[in-house]
Amino acid sequence: MNPFIELGIRHDIVNAITELGFEKPTPIQEQAVPVLLTGSNDFVGLAQTGTGKTAAFGLPLLELLDFSQKHPQALVLCPTRELCLQIAKDIEKFAKNIPNVHVVAVYGGASISDQLRQIRRGVQIVVATPGRMLDIIGRDAIDFSNVKYVVLDEADEMLNMGFQEDINNILSTTPDEKKTWLFSATMPAEVRRIAKNYMTDPFELTVGTKNSGNANIEHHYYVVRARDKYAAFKRIVDSNPEIFGIVFCRTKVETQEIAEALIKDGYNADSLHGDLSQQQRDKVMKRYRDRSLQLLIATDVAARGIDVNDVTHVINFSLPDEIENYTHRSGRTARAGKTGISISLVNLKELGKIRQIEKVIGKPFVKMEVPKGDAVVEKQLFALINKVHEVAVNDDHIDRYLPQIMESFADLSKEEIIKRFASLEFNRFLEYYQNAPDLNVDAHEARSGDRRGKAERFGRDGYKSDYTRLFINLGSVDDFTRGDILGYICNTTNISGKAIGKIDLKGVYTFFEVENSSVDKVFRGFQNVDFNGRSVRVENAGEGRGDSRGGEKRTRSFRNGGGESGGRRKRESGGGFRDFGGKRREKSRW
Ligand code: AMP
Repeated sequence: MNPFIELGIRHDIVNAITELGFEKPTPIQEQAVPVLLTGSNDFVGLAQTGTGKTAAFGLPLLELLDFSQKHPQALVLCPTRELCLQIAKDIEKFAKNIPNVHVVAVYGGASISDQLRQIRRGVQIVVATPGRMLDIIGRDAIDFSNVKYVVLDEADEMLNMGFQEDINNILSTTPDEKKTWLFSATMPAEVRRIAKNYMTDPFELTVGTKNSGNANIEHHYYVVRARDKYAAFKRIVDSNPEIFGIVFCRTKVETQEIAEALIKDGYNADSLHGDLSQQQRDKVMKRYRDRSLQLLIATDVAARGIDVNDVTHVINFSLPDEIENYTHRSGRTARAGKTGISISLVNLKELGKIRQIEKVIGKPFVKMEVPKGDAVVEKQLFALINKVHEVAVNDDHIDRYLPQIMESFADLSKEEIIKRFASLEFNRFLEYYQNAPDLNVDAHEARSGDRRGKAERFGRDGYKSDYTRLFINLGSVDDFTRGDILGYICNTTNISGKAIGKIDLKGVYTFFEVENSSVDKVFRGFQNVDFNGRSVRVENAGEGRGDSRGGEKRTRSFRNGGGESGGRRKRESGGGFRDFGGKRREKSRW
């Protein structure tokens, strides 16, 4: 018998999930479904993302709700728009063979009138992010008086993002006798409190060890000098030719810098961060899902809710500020029973953080050596050879060129042809990695190296030292040319064009160099400046400023319904730029 039938799921649903490739329940499904199907328990499930949580609560909901009625009976709250859409879509797929199931996804950054229309038409399951949900409740546009089940998905994330008050307000509009099902990857005190305040004697389930990472994830770390980090990162990527990865940075600026450097170096990479509009984020995500991108460079907040299967590697280019975020980051790989590797690039001073993470995830890290140049070259060569074996040959198309091809190779032996062919792709790597230094550090080297590190962030092709490189959140999408933006900066700040060096105009932002003596003037000049209704933001690009307060701020952006709102906000204190890092460090939990 199909194991889902044994769990109590009806044939119609089992047929639908079989089509999705669900052959047997995942551990959380196996344990949660029978409990939730009773409909009589509050429930706390501790499980990582990617473990099959959506079906663990989605299938029981489909069994328990009355679809002949058209009022909301279940409310699923989750932290991000991406997750919200995913859950709604998944439930619809599970319900494919059940008539009259109506699911609405309610999230910010999209037209509220469409969502209101769907609600008016009648829905039984509302999947929502808290900000937009509250907005709709505030308009008196939804009636939760018949809600029987509330699911709080990724509860720890929602609290991290500051949704506690919104959740309280939303829950207060639902009946006292409803059942609450809470899912969380971690169980910090705040989540524990929710369980205590909102639930009666909940059934608790832990899949895997508490707070531990997914057992299918291997955790690796590399010790490198700060200045070698990017080069080491590239070696790791190059020695994994089939990598499909998410690279985490701590700040928006760092995210952009790494993505730019990678693109310049010929990789299929792009960045995902809070300064992008929802439309831009969707575009990047689509390219990543379609595999047009091999590397997605993201901040923690922007990457929440990303549920792309088959991510082979998560790379912590910088360790997260909050230890808990490591679990969220690494949970983006090894989904749906697959295996994955979470890599951290650290300097010697950060080794203590690795030890702390080990305690939290209950699993040791493996120390790895940054591959030497010749090892990378070998990996690339054999990846190429492998590709030759696996390439799909289109006989119809190639056949007509073959005689000519054969003729032109007539004077070469088979060995000669193979050699030349392999060299074609391969010379690039050979050249690049010829004489490549060993990037691994020993303790002595690291101490002197780190002191030098900061100024040489991206190594040899750095910017002039008497100039400071700044970031401004305006670019070609705002119809600026390089000349325009030069004029705009000069006019706004009253500095001479001579004080400005190189300008790198990008889509939504621009990097520009300013003589060190004029930097303060530029910062002052851009205080409280708006451009087309958007707050203009200038930051020191070299120091990795950006969304280092991202957690708090992004809260607002999600609540306001989209990634852009962070950009729209006014700067709270004029000279605040320099303080960001310091403030953050005080708050840091390391
Ligand atoms: P979730 O944790 O709900 O986001 O699920 C992670 C991924 O696993 C999704 O792509 C699901 O479609 C997939 N999945 C969930 N349950 C199963 C199952 N029983 N068998 C195979 N894949 C599953």
